[in-house]
Amino acid sequence: MSDKLNNADIHWDENGQPISSQYDDVYFSRASGIEETRYVFLQQNHLPERWSQLPTDKSGCFTIAETGFGTGLNFLAAAELWLKVAPKNWRLHFVSVEKFPLNREDFQKALSLWPELATLAEELQANYPPQIPGFHRLHLANNRLQLTLLFGEAAEMFEQLAGSDHPLWQHSGHGKVDAWFLDGFAPSKNPDMWTEQLFSAMANLSDAGTTLATFTAAGIVRRGLQAVGFNIEKIPGFGHKREMVRGAMAEQISVEITPEELQPASYNGITEAPWYLNTNPLSNTQHAAVLGGGIAGCSVASALAKRGWHVTLIERHQQLANEASGNPQGIIYPKFSKQDSPLSRFGLYGLSYASRFYRPFWQHNELGQQCGVLLLPESEKQAKDFPLIAERFAHCPELLHGVGNLAMKQLSGLNLKAEQGLHCPNLGWVIPPKICAALASHPNINRVTAEIDTLEFEQNCWRLLDCQGNTVAESETVILAASHELAKFEQTAHLPLKRIRGQISQVAQTDSDVKLNTVICGKGYIAPALNGSYTLGATYNLRDECADVRDSDHQTNLTKLTETDPGISELLPKSTTNLQGRVGFRCTTPDYLPLVGPAPKADEMQQRFELLSKNARAHIPLPGKYYQGLYISAGYGSRGLSYAPIAAELLAAQICGETAPVERDLVKALSPARFLIRELKRG
Ligand code: SAM
Repeated sequence: MSDKLNNADIHWDENGQPISSQYDDVYFSRASGIEETRYVFLQQNHLPERWSQLPTDKSGCFTIAETGFGTGLNFLAAAELWLKVAPKNWRLHFVSVEKFPLNREDFQKALSLWPELATLAEELQANYPPQIPGFHRLHLANNRLQLTLLFGEAAEMFEQLAGSDHPLWQHSGHGKVDAWFLDGFAPSKNPDMWTEQLFSAMANLSDAGTTLATFTAAGIVRRGLQAVGFNIEKIPGFGHKREMVRGAMAEQISVEITPEELQPASYNGITEAPWYLNTNPLSNTQHAAVLGGGIAGCSVASALAKRGWHVTLIERHQQLANEASGNPQGIIYPKFSKQDSPLSRFGLYGLSYASRFYRPFWQHNELGQQCGVLLLPESEKQAKDFPLIAERFAHCPELLHGVGNLAMKQLSGLNLKAEQGLHCPNLGWVIPPKICAALASHPNINRVTAEIDTLEFEQNCWRLLDCQGNTVAESETVILAASHELAKFEQTAHLPLKRIRGQISQVAQTDSDVKLNTVICGKGYIAPALNGSYTLGATYNLRDECADVRDSDHQTNLTKLTETDPGISELLPKSTTNLQGRVGFRCTTPDYLPLVGPAPKADEMQQRFELLSKNARAHIPLPGKYYQGLYISAGYGSRGLSYAPIAAELLAAQICGETAPVERDLVKALSPARFLIRELKRG
């Protein structure tokens, strides 16, 4: 995926309508953009009828995918109709790809053309993501709308939206699109978008019954769509346009495929073993048991509850967030890299999503503060990287921007000495136990206090037992979000989780005039005072099981902060006497990415892919072996607050059979099965 993104180059005509200078084409009909959208995309996909007939006995999700988000007009028009006619327990998931996103100014100006859509347009603008390539998920209208913007080239992005190209995935019915809006500029002006690659990616994401509509009737589009299995019909176009096209994926004769029957020849040249593919059926019961009441467990419980699922949230302590998520203040800790990698990409998605996820909580000041985070270099090497990072993200200053000494002094309120830093204005700190409690307060979430010792699977259902063998919960779907505790379950004992001790310190605020206004992170971190004390931290000790607060660790925290910037020392005491603190144990993985996804059956997986130990490139055309209905969310290290919300969204999508909020390559990079495969490949 490209690391670069360019904004749309737009000019405005005499009527104030946006025109693309790149493509020399209009964004929407000069006569009436909104009427054209309603006729071409909404009516010809039969959306008013389909939506008013959705069954109300179960909640669900209807997915539209669009080429060319542009000004967001099609999205807003679809959303307006959805909110009027669709049942309240259904969500509209609108996925739209955009290679040249409008900058914020143009976006605002374009949306102001539609006063009737103003309320939704304002919410959309407030959530418009930073201009970084890749996937961006937004939730709007009280969770009745879900928008996933894919910033990049259409064909490539839709390939990444599909779980796999493997025939087994195509037949699984997971992650499918219900209706397509084909809206890029006219094929004559934009031939590069309307490619065979795009049409095949569309077919891979479509099922029998998936419909499409497009304003163009160009032969290349009709033939391309027919070639991949769509039935096509030409009908009168909108306004002065003679013709347009609508269609539907042809009924396919359903073929039962067993993995063993699949021969390499049927693989369209795919050679990587699709070990990441989970072909177990989805649960129909819309109930899950979540084990673990920290930020990982609470955010996944909340993501499912918002989808209409009922959740039993099991935590051994009376209070939620009692372990690694239990610090009095937690910061949304940013980490940036000068280049792209799965870790840095997930970090970016996590931060961008978190800045939207915590916004409603930040609006209530007692849950935290969106005060901004100032990042100072930890080393000389980092100091050299900072300008490169600032340059890499120069087009999204709301995510981060480089700042000099004077700006840092003004932002922080301290007499900092560092000459340069990175400022993330949309991040801040939260009170993790209060956030967890707020997430778990959804009426669909039932809290249970119990310690689970064993998991048993019988008759398609998991039973969660305590140490006396009592059944605490039963569910077809279970999410294990209990950090290191995963080591004690037979099913997950193989996971390479490490424990890292961390101690934070709490320092009383003095009467001095100096007050810290932002979070500062470097070798250590410090957050603005809460209830008269500053939280700072944290130590990092592998293989240290001591749970006691230690004076020596308070000293380490003070020293790290002074080394971050001597200017911070005006807030710090001279000695560690009487400092309060707290110890927690982070749970991390060898590659520092969390484990998010279905739980692999280690032995069966090893047997199935054994050949990889002899030939790491061996072609084994079989999907992975996963426990039915068992999922994992763990290994967040110090980044639970930043990563857990987007990870929860990914898990909820996998559990409900929806398209993922991150690209396929990242789904693989987060898969809990990756270490088994890596071990095999290493022989
Ligand atoms: N649906 C839009 C709306 O409601 O405002 C109008 C879309 S406009 C006619 C076409 C859009 O497709 C432009 O925003 C353009 O940047 C985008 N686009 C063009 N080629 C593309 C490509 N190859 N991949 C992704 N997006 C592309």
